[in-house]
Amino acid sequence: MSFEYDDQNIFAKILRGEIPNSTVLETEHSLAFHDIAAQAPVHVLVIPKGAYVTYDHFIAEASDAEIVDFNRAIGEVCRLMKLSGADTDGGFRIIANAGAHALQEVPHLHMHVLGGRPLGLLLDRG
Ligand code: 5GP
Repeated sequence: MSFEYDDQNIFAKILRGEIPNSTVLETEHSLAFHDIAAQAPVHVLVIPKGAYVTYDHFIAEASDAEIVDFNRAIGEVCRLMKLSGADTDGGFRIIANAGAHALQEVPHLHMHVLGGRPLGLLLDRG
């Protein structure tokens, strides 16, 4: 399996500091920031700093340290945004789109962390 990474994608530019972002959390291997077009009261994107296109690419090629860091960052974002544990009674959703069928817009792995309101069905019926 091979994955081609386009280093001109918008999240690569964010990681290089070429365009600004509203950072929620930065760790050794991950960055979390607010989505520019939030679809819920909480809409944070968590990305690995490494050059991975999709979740399957990440799991196939990332180091254990990167995978642990990324997953812990997602959990920490949920905690920081008061979506998890004793802070919430509402819960949250995490989604990673991959490829054309999932309408992935930015070809750098990102986990959407969504919450703060009822989120409706996971998929539309189309
Ligand atoms: P996708 O459809 O690839 O799963 O989601 C891409 C997400 O990136 C969208 O929710 C979109 O609003 C967000 N996005 C696109 N460009 C930017 C940007 O320049 N800054 C931030 N913070 N989010 C962006």
